[in-house]
Amino acid sequence: MLRFLLHYGIHFLVPPLVAFLFFRPKWFKITLILWAGILIDLDHLLANPIFDPDRCSIGFHPLHSYVMVAVYLILLGFRKTRIFGLALLIHILADACDCLFLRFQL
Ligand SMILES: [Zn+2]
Repeated sequence: MLRFLLHYGIHFLVPPLVAFLFFRPKWFKITLILWAGILIDLDHLLANPIFDPDRCSIGFHPLHSYVMVAVYLILLGFRKTRIFGLALLIHILADACDCLFLRFQL
């Protein structure tokens, strides 16, 4: 239950919190962009089964690969792509927490 709450809490509660704290004038638009980070889960459609609760996404799915995480970090370095990098890294953080729960059988 804690795993579920943390995973989906990061996916859906962290974006509006970050938007409200750091992008207050445009918090709603920024929240929508940050929530859109979940779209990288479309790469799950390439896997069989599409959803496996006991599989760590990081390093398995193409858009969750370590190379892509490096790309998302690079996106943070440029003003025009920063918000997209942030959206994708929040997503990766949520999935990484899930992986830690799996790894340590919490
Ligand atoms: Zn994911």
